[in-house]
Amino acid sequence: MEAVIKDIAEMQRTAERLRNQGRRIGVVPTMGCLHQGHLKLLEVARKHADVVITSIFVNPTQFGPTEDFTRYPRDLGRDTQLASAAGTDYVFAPETESMYPPGYHTYIEVERLTEMLEGKSRPGHFRGVTTVVGKIFSITKPAVAVFGQKDAQQVAVVRQMIRDMNFDIELVVCPIVREPDGLAMSSRNVYLSKEQRSQAPVLYMSIARAEDLIRSGERSCEKVIDRMKTLIATNSSGVVDYISIADSTTLEELNECRGSLLISLAVRFGTTRLIDNATITI
Ligand code: AMP
Repeated sequence: MEAVIKDIAEMQRTAERLRNQGRRIGVVPTMGCLHQGHLKLLEVARKHADVVITSIFVNPTQFGPTEDFTRYPRDLGRDTQLASAAGTDYVFAPETESMYPPGYHTYIEVERLTEMLEGKSRPGHFRGVTTVVGKIFSITKPAVAVFGQKDAQQVAVVRQMIRDMNFDIELVVCPIVREPDGLAMSSRNVYLSKEQRSQAPVLYMSIARAEDLIRSGERSCEKVIDRMKTLIATNSSGVVDYISIADSTTLEELNECRGSLLISLAVRFGTTRLIDNATITI
């Protein structure tokens, strides 16, 4: 690996130099606590770019006041080693105070797509995401940016932002990486107690059940969602935040399972909130 860069101006100078050398920069924005899901994104970035920048920044503006910003796991030493071994050339790890210095007053806000699903449960979340991703884009000057399908709505929102703000950046999306029992990998999985961890695959199980039902002819979204709720209630102590079957492009909820569907859900285990999703086409 070349370097860990904390300074924004230094990252910009480095990116500018790389671009002037004709190199194609790929960026993978993360909040650190890297796991196999992130490493897959890095692997994909390598295929689409000749220099990979991994940003590691726990972004305060995307956390709500009662969310887990302060307890979010942080370990830059470990992350740097993992990122380097997975083919990262530069780690960009700025301080909060340099990303949001006193007098900071600018935010990027995508309308519509941010109003449903995660946006409804986490007001202000996507405003923080698009703002920090926009900043990371203008600091790392990428030709390509890699995001995970794990955060399906985030992908849709970032795609809209790239289009609307004319960012000259190719968006590459990576499938969800799962544990052997189906649980989607997440930095937040470390919060789960042993018992919660053993129940957490119900998110994936409920999605698999929904897919089975739809593929075998069920067309009522309400009925499918009811079956998912029952499965979760029967097999876990998880509390459903939302379960949605929506149009995968507009994210608008559907009555009838038809077209390209995004099945998504958020479930709380104690204070830990887990999300998962799948897209299927009928
Ligand atoms: P985070 O560090 O949670 O903000 O995630 C950084 C990036 O990694 C986002 O684009 C996520 O969608 C992606 N990501 C996180 N977990 C997974 C996973 N299990 N599979 C695929 N991508 C993931």
